[in-house]
Order: sequence, then C-alpha cells, then structure tokens
Amino acid sequence: MADDAVTRFAPSPTGPLHLGHAYAALVAANLAAPDRFLLRIEDIDQSRCRPEYEAMIAEDLHWLGLGWPLPVMRQSDRLPAYRAALDRLTALGLTYPCQCRRADIRAALSAPQEGAPVIGPDGPVYPGTCRHRSMAEAGPGDAIRLNAAAALAHLNLGEIAFEDENIAPGIPQRLSATDFVAGVGDVVLARRGMGTSYHLSVVVDDAAQGITLVTRGKDLLDSTHIHVLLQRLLDLPVPRYHHHRLIRDATGKRLAKRDDARALRLYRAEGATPADIRRMLGL
Ligand code: GLU
Repeated sequence: MADDAVTRFAPSPTGPLHLGHAYAALVAANLAAPDRFLLRIEDIDQSRCRPEYEAMIAEDLHWLGLGWPLPVMRQSDRLPAYRAALDRLTALGLTYPCQCRRADIRAALSAPQEGAPVIGPDGPVYPGTCRHRSMAEAGPGDAIRLNAAAALAHLNLGEIAFEDENIAPGIPQRLSATDFVAGVGDVVLARRGMGTSYHLSVVVDDAAQGITLVTRGKDLLDSTHIHVLLQRLLDLPVPRYHHHRLIRDATGKRLAKRDDARALRLYRAEGATPADIRRMLGL
C-alpha cells in the first residue's frame, strides 16, 4: 500500500527503546518505499535527552534490521528553522507571549465562573490570560502561544479535517473551528527557554524531510488537528496520516519509556531474536 511513501520514526532520546517504540519504528519502515524510512531525533528538551540514549536507539534499530539514510535529522540542530516558522506566524499577527506557569493556569481554571476545565491534547485548555499581550513585550521567560481563533479566522476555515488511513480510511477526522478553539485552544508554539515546541518542530521537520506519510501512535491523533492547522498557516504540504495502535503491558497500561522492564535490550539479553520481537508485536 505504501507506494512511494517517505516515513519517519521520531523518538526522543530520553530512555532505551521499548516494545512500543519497536512497533512504531517497524510500522513506519514497513509502510515506507525502499530507502525512504527516515530517522529523526526529537531532542528539543535538552534537560531530558542524553547522547547515550541516542546511540542505544540507533543500535537497537539496527539490531531490529532497520537502516536509514544519513545524516540523521536532530531537532537540536534545527532551531533557526523553528525560529523562521515562528517569525512567520508572528508576522501574521497570530502569536503572543505567555508568562503563565502551570500553577497560574490551574488557578485561573479553578475560578468558580470557569466550570470544569476542558482537557485538550496538551492538557487543560489555556484560558487566554495573556492573549492581550503583544510580541513586542516578549521576554526570555515567556512561552509563545498561537492565537487559535485568529489563526482559524486568518485561514477562513470553518473546520480542520484530515484523513487517517488506518483508523477510518476515507472518513475525515473533522474538528470545527469552534471546537478547536474550545477544546484545543491557544497551543504553545515555543516553550519557555526552548524556542520551539513539539507541535511546531514536528510540522517544520516533517516538511523539511519530505515526509509524505506520518505514522505514529493513536495517542497523538488529537494533536494532528493542530499540525494540520500549522501546515496550512505555514504553507506546508499536508502529509498522509496513519495512527497505529499502542502496545500495552499485560495490565493494559500503555508502555512508557520508564517501564525499563520492557526495554528491547532486555528481551535481547534474554536471547530474543528480531523475528521473536516482530512476532510478539503481531508484525
Ligand atoms: N517524538 C514523539 C514521541 O516520541 C513522536 C512524535 C511524532 O511521531 O509525531 O512520541
């Protein structure tokens, strides 16, 4: 089905790869055209990322039988590209600096008139406390947010829609502009002191790498409306999407990187082969 698809596996080097990562990498590689599976290291959060994990990731992926073209894209090398994208959104008047800390947001949302907080893809939907601020006031302690209502109005979009080829082929995943504003809100484009965010960098990098088919876990399905909005604002191509199932442990809990017991290298140390891993993952 993959025709000429260019796919990527985009881990953060914050721990060893576990079975969930192996599944994500193998799905991406299986759906890619020959030599069109790319690796991208998502290391914008330097406080959590370690070079030794990056080396382990490459070794584990090679062990699984995967290869990819070099050089590998590393997000920590890409800050000028993120800056340029942010500047473009700022020039459109769609950004503002935000000085709220998590506790401020929680406090604003717990005010009696607010009702129950709406939880979006990034947590509680931002109440807009700093929306009146202008970029001229932005300081080093600020995050930068997208003014979602202004962005949707700028594009004159009544809804954001994309198709997921795995979950519901042929049926658009729609989110109206009103629901985007109420249920997703003013997402962070640049985290404080970081110059970018997951959403901004993934969109800029998928375009820069020429990714035509984004494969990733279903937990990120709700983020895709944000990515499609950013692609439209930045005039970037909208890739195809394939959100895959998540690998869970015996209790049904989603595997996280701290579940070291499930690290791929432990299976390997116990004598498992790459074929055993594929079989365990149903691939
Ligand atoms: N770095 C992300 C993760 O580790 C992947 C994001 C994506 O595939 O868009 O979950």
